Amino acid sequence: MNESPLRRLRVAVEAPQHSGLTGPLDYLGPQGLTPGTLVHVTLGRRDVMGLVWDDPPEDQDLPEDAQLPESELRPVGEALDALPPLSNRWRRLVEFAAGYYQRSVGELALAVLPPQLRDLDAKQLQARLKKLDKADAEAAKAAKAAKAATAAAAAAIEAGSNPEALEALPSTPERPALTAQQQSALDALAELAAREVPQPALLWGLTGSGKTEIYLRAAEAALERGEQVLVLVPEINLTPQLEARFAERFAGRSIVSLHSALTPAQRLRNWLAAHLGRAQLVLGTRLAVFASMPRLGLIVVDEEHDPSYKQQDGARYSARDLAVYRGHLEKVPVVLGSATPSLESWQHALAGRYRRIDLTERIGGGALPRVRLFDMNRLERKKGVTTTLSVPLVDALRKRLERGEQSLVFLNRRGYAPVLHCDQCNWKSDCPHCSAHQVFHKEDRTLRCHHCGVTTRVPRACPSCGNPDIAPLGRGTERLEEQLAQALPGARVARIDADTTRLKGSLETQLAAVHEGDVDILVGTQMVAKGHDFRRITLVAAVNPDGALFSSDFRAPERLFSLLMQAGGRAGRDAAQAARSEMWIQTWYPEHALYQSLQKHDYEAFAGSQLHERMSANLPPFAHLALVRAEGRSVEAARDFLVAAQEAAQALPLSLGLLLYPPVPMAIARVADSERFQMLIEAGSRAQLLRFLRAWLPELHALKRRQKGLTRWAVDVDPLAI
Ligand SMILES: [Zn+2]
Ligand SMILES: [Zn+2]
Repeated sequence: MNESPLRRLRVAVEAPQHSGLTGPLDYLGPQGLTPGTLVHVTLGRRDVMGLVWDDPPEDQDLPEDAQLPESELRPVGEALDALPPLSNRWRRLVEFAAGYYQRSVGELALAVLPPQLRDLDAKQLQARLKKLDKADAEAAKAAKAAKAATAAAAAAIEAGSNPEALEALPSTPERPALTAQQQSALDALAELAAREVPQPALLWGLTGSGKTEIYLRAAEAALERGEQVLVLVPEINLTPQLEARFAERFAGRSIVSLHSALTPAQRLRNWLAAHLGRAQLVLGTRLAVFASMPRLGLIVVDEEHDPSYKQQDGARYSARDLAVYRGHLEKVPVVLGSATPSLESWQHALAGRYRRIDLTERIGGGALPRVRLFDMNRLERKKGVTTTLSVPLVDALRKRLERGEQSLVFLNRRGYAPVLHCDQCNWKSDCPHCSAHQVFHKEDRTLRCHHCGVTTRVPRACPSCGNPDIAPLGRGTERLEEQLAQALPGARVARIDADTTRLKGSLETQLAAVHEGDVDILVGTQMVAKGHDFRRITLVAAVNPDGALFSSDFRAPERLFSLLMQAGGRAGRDAAQAARSEMWIQTWYPEHALYQSLQKHDYEAFAGSQLHERMSANLPPFAHLALVRAEGRSVEAARDFLVAAQEAAQALPLSLGLLLYPPVPMAIARVADSERFQMLIEAGSRAQLLRFLRAWLPELHALKRRQKGLTRWAVDVDPLAI
């Protein structure tokens, strides 16, 4: 055998964060192994997947003990070199994300690859690639045949020999005429794209102002340049709709989706198509931000303000923020679209870091719904009269019903009632494992905890005193649906929430029923507020939105405002009906600044006042936060860990100038018998925060091993929920 000499390689290996490994490890490998190649390696006694990272630094001026001598290095195992290596730019993206969100490079690199890829050996991978080649060849053949048939049909029509052939012609996708605003938005984007390093664009557009058409045209331009396009959407539910629109427009192009609802085989196939440069357009949820795309030319982030772009476990990354970084890295334009941008992005636009592009008119001249703030204080108070479904609201719904129009009633709480209550002894349906109530679900007569999932039968009588008269307190969507059906006999009421859409495909079926006009009144949670294009809804009512006004989370008003704007945007999408479409807000605080801005559809005023508040309270985007959360089997375990962590932090010179808040219980302190505490760290500069975390976190790993009863801890940089 012709053995080529081995050389030192740096390999990022799949090692959990607590192992303390942050960077790549040294191994020995053959000369020809390029960085970005997947290899099997031994870690401890395990065989794990690794990724050849970069060549070791040229200058070997490292101190003697900084690296193992080559004689002690282990050789790498089998290389999956049938796969083209992951690019240098892709590795820089992963490296940045790992450093920023405080994870090890190897853990993140392997976690964002399709799970199936990690389990393959070289032979299996080759078989997969072969299969993909075959499928692609067949698709190309079919496309060619279709093209030939079209040409033949066209020739036949030309010759006048076969008029029926007209039907054989595929309909060319219709491209709607652009409004003047859309045209100037596209001109602005084209101008940005032409720059050496394009500035990110914040596309601020009302619902119904034609943002999607901007995405489509910008994508078209990139595709014509032979580039690949990455489109991110916040939720899996929204991918099929957008995918359909892109597929219709770009018939004959290769479009793949990437999200967690794909089967492992589908995900690998789609990922490979992107990586091999065959997929021209990749549409996906947050994990798609890491898709390997060799000819990436444009990134679109739709509904950029949406909280689901932030990963909530493992590496807690923000796909929106990484998309912006990736654009910078790859020198490609990034379009962030929203009707209610995140305050972070808005501030970046104000500061000139992002280029703001406005779409202020609805397509077809449709007006935004008139917002009515319905003052609940003025309602006559009578015992037994439900306030959620006020008499004026029922009247308004009835009017729509008589005119054959649809209504949407929005309540962000599922289940029948948030709690069951005994008025004899004050028993409440508390979850035995959490500091929360079990929610009453009437349909299947269960009490369910929405935090830990524990489900029990509804007791016949009060478990504490035997009173048979236990009653639901408050109201969720299930009860609202029931009450609407009672108040408006004959109305076809439907409900869409996490409970009614558990089964695959059920959401699509229910949405179709709304579109077909088989539903008069739709009740739903935030699920219905997002993205769905309802043409015939003329009344949107938010029946109980006040809760978020007084939340301890400083981002709650921002979320409420965008949710209500989005919900309101469901009304009057049809220009003919737009004039009389309305949004009702039932509130006890009609004078609140948030509602006052909402009434005028004035996001700008709302953002201005919020940013002002944040600046005076020194909150993001004017400060940078990290949150350390700890869970333990006892209050003491969780709290003591954070107290010790804080002491360790104070001993570090890097903590000077940082604000370390004392550990406090989380809003829901106990979940699934776990006690949860958190501690907030505030810094004036991002770089300072990251330098501190890098020095501090290794101490926390050591503390964890000493703290009995601590089950886990995690750090969240730029946390979304406080
Ligand atoms: Zn629970
Ligand atoms: Zn009782």
